[in-house]
Amino acid sequence: MSPGIRTYHEVDELRSELPDQIAAQDERLAARLASVSRVVAVMSGKGGVGKSLLAALLATALARRGERVGLIDADLNGPSAAGLLGVEPGPLVDGPDGLEPAVSPAGIRLMSMALLLEPDRALTWKDAADAGFVWRGAQERGAVREFLSDVAWGPLDTLLVDLPPGTQRLAELHGLVPGLAGALAVTIPSAASRDAVARSLDLAVTRGIRVHGVVENMAGARCDECGALAPLHAGSAGEDLARRFGIPLLARIPFDRRLATAADEGTLDAWFADAGPEADRLAELAAKLRPAGAGEGT
Ligand code: ADP
Repeated sequence: MSPGIRTYHEVDELRSELPDQIAAQDERLAARLASVSRVVAVMSGKGGVGKSLLAALLATALARRGERVGLIDADLNGPSAAGLLGVEPGPLVDGPDGLEPAVSPAGIRLMSMALLLEPDRALTWKDAADAGFVWRGAQERGAVREFLSDVAWGPLDTLLVDLPPGTQRLAELHGLVPGLAGALAVTIPSAASRDAVARSLDLAVTRGIRVHGVVENMAGARCDECGALAPLHAGSAGEDLARRFGIPLLARIPFDRRLATAADEGTLDAWFADAGPEADRLAELAAKLRPAGAGEGT
């Protein structure tokens, strides 16, 4: 050991306090989750496939059904949920029961790194020298834990977690929420997206996480005028993944210019109200996330 560097076990102040701090965090987390009926993760393999949009659409559809819905934007480096849900950034209130989540016009409770950052500022972590990657991972895991445990979510029927692309955060979320109700995978039709999502699904299978199914986004493009579907991406990732993992292909969503505008303007609720076939299908999908039977657990 180099002079001047202490190992963990030589750091008395850490040794005495860290286990207590972790135990206290675990207790806070358990207490918070006790009032949340189910936690559902929305995951993908690659960025830009519409995962955040789908998470926001599902949250909106559930809120429209009268459910109490929360959304954690765990895509810490590319947070977009606030814009999608029409939440204006403003000061967050530190209430008696924890940090108050922002509430969207549709009533969705939201926590996102975007609400904690100054507008247009990128997220940066204070990296320990030479340990940037590992340290950042630890900080990001800590942030998701705090989003779960330190936010005054109140009673929720469904807490959706919009995970960043890749497998790591799903594993961590499952570590934090062993009773995870399930995960939903989003892909576009391409083979590259299919292979990336397959890695996330492999991890879900390995860890015994229930997978509700896969949603194929950008499955063609809907013509504004005639409503016909034109091809967009080559590939059949949705069907391929459903077959390979024995899971349902829950929906195929075309690129829809009206939806793109609603997403940009944060008016997804109005998009649902003006229901077309895709909105109906998403509402059905959201309803399926609710396990059959009253009083079910997570
Ligand atoms: P990801 O979370 O996978 O990185 P996003 O949800 O941010 O991807 O989607 C990327 C962009 O594409 C966003 O501007 C989103 O509104 C848009 N988009 C995604 N799916 C559709 C769709 N089916 N129709 C219209 N726009 C879409």
